[in-house]
Amino acid sequence: MRSDERTFDLAVVGAGPGGYVASVRAAQLGMRVALVERDRLGGTCLNWGCIPTKALLQSSQVLSLMRRAGEFGIYADNLRADFGIAVKRSREKAERLSKGIEFLMRKNKVTVFSGEARFTAVKELEITDRDGGKTSGAIRAEKILLATGSRPRLLPDVTIDGKVVLTSTEAMLLNRAPASMIIIGAGAIGVEFADIYQAYGTAVTLVELLPAILPYEDEEIAALLHRALTKKGIKILTNTSVERVVVEAGKAKVRISSSGESQELLGETVLVAVGRMPNSEVGGLKELGVATRNGFVTVNEWMESSVPGIYAIGDLAGAPLLAHKASHDGIVAIEKMAKLDDVEPVDPRRIPSCTYCHPQVASIGLTEAKAKAKGYTIRVGRFPFSASGMAITLGETEGMVKVIADATHGEILGVHIIGAHATELIAEAGLAIALEATPEEIARSIHAHPTLSEAMGEAALAALGRALHV
Ligand code: FAD
Repeated sequence: MRSDERTFDLAVVGAGPGGYVASVRAAQLGMRVALVERDRLGGTCLNWGCIPTKALLQSSQVLSLMRRAGEFGIYADNLRADFGIAVKRSREKAERLSKGIEFLMRKNKVTVFSGEARFTAVKELEITDRDGGKTSGAIRAEKILLATGSRPRLLPDVTIDGKVVLTSTEAMLLNRAPASMIIIGAGAIGVEFADIYQAYGTAVTLVELLPAILPYEDEEIAALLHRALTKKGIKILTNTSVERVVVEAGKAKVRISSSGESQELLGETVLVAVGRMPNSEVGGLKELGVATRNGFVTVNEWMESSVPGIYAIGDLAGAPLLAHKASHDGIVAIEKMAKLDDVEPVDPRRIPSCTYCHPQVASIGLTEAKAKAKGYTIRVGRFPFSASGMAITLGETEGMVKVIADATHGEILGVHIIGAHATELIAEAGLAIALEATPEEIARSIHAHPTLSEAMGEAALAALGRALHV
């Protein structure tokens, strides 16, 4: 490669939803872009996160639906399920999407380098072939954007052996559903795996240190999910800490403690799902003096780090660790670099959060407790899916939409949904919050009948004391 072919306006490190989206946007704005990836295009999201887990959840949903097929007058006798095939299907979907990113990079004339990047100077990266350890030379760029993502957080003294003790990565590659699984951590990842494996007949125990599952969600919604998962047969232990995990004769023994009392759980497998750690050990980063907090790179509202010209986005730049937040960070960083006039910093209140278990949970904005803690006088409107015509026809009456609005100015502060297709329904709330809409405005927008989205209009009406169907 000639030296001018190694000089770019922008070098992006990491091809997850942060890095590859930023690369496309930069190319659209006329920048010459290099994208460095040490593993597969698509990052955690496409290969080891969002996509393969959603494919597995779809298999578990089909299975659960077939178990209740008789309700619809359909008889599926001798129902059999092969978890190995569900895993194979999920890998195919991930592979297909990763290939799609290759196409997108070619289409946008982004130069992709395969290997591990490390800094040799503020504007220079050296790329090393991960397997052979060979250096494929340096590239130079005016600006460098780090999108190196995150990896599973581990527990002290707990060894991941990939067979009995797993992280999310191994848990999406098992070729059969184990007889039992103890899941440590009831955040979105722990809850989604609990749902997948429970559907395949695994006896699942979810252990959570905090008082509630999905601890960052609205308490009322988390409590409804707790009830729904318990009803399905998932055992949930909250306010419970894990003291020790040992593997003996191929089985796990997990010592837990709650209210001062200890007990031992036995499981064929243990999934450690206690959060994620940033991949901030990019070579040379520390030496350049890039500031970090708890390992996450500290950035300003335009995603620029403490060293001018070096940016960080996505999981590397901190919570919430979500794919759409990573992509949005990237777009903001690039548009600001390109000096577009209408760029706005990422507003955390506009980032939706979704958990794809059944029933699904989706939310945006403030929870009821947080809105009160911030001093708002609030109006809350609720609408249960049991009163929705569409939910009744689908046989999906579990759950509700909850709208929280500021009683003084009317602005919608938060929307929380539990139920079928909650993760699709939240988009309307996202637009409402972005436009600073009021419940009145949501209610005035005409929702097609029969749809689940009518529940959003009704919850908005309920916040005004005017729900029509409850
Ligand atoms: P990543 O996607 O982690 O990509 C970082 C990339 O950088 C990786 O490919 C890595 O190989 C590469 N890299 C790292 N260091 C270097 C280096 N020095 N040189 C070259 N390359 C490097 N989020 C959602 O929004 N919805 C979901 O449903 C969802 N489900 C999830 C399920 C699971 C099981 C997991 C683990 C995560 C899930 N997430 C979900 C979170 C989501 O995957 C992440 O928030 C998202 O991938 C972060 O994007 P990113 O671009 O910051 O980093």
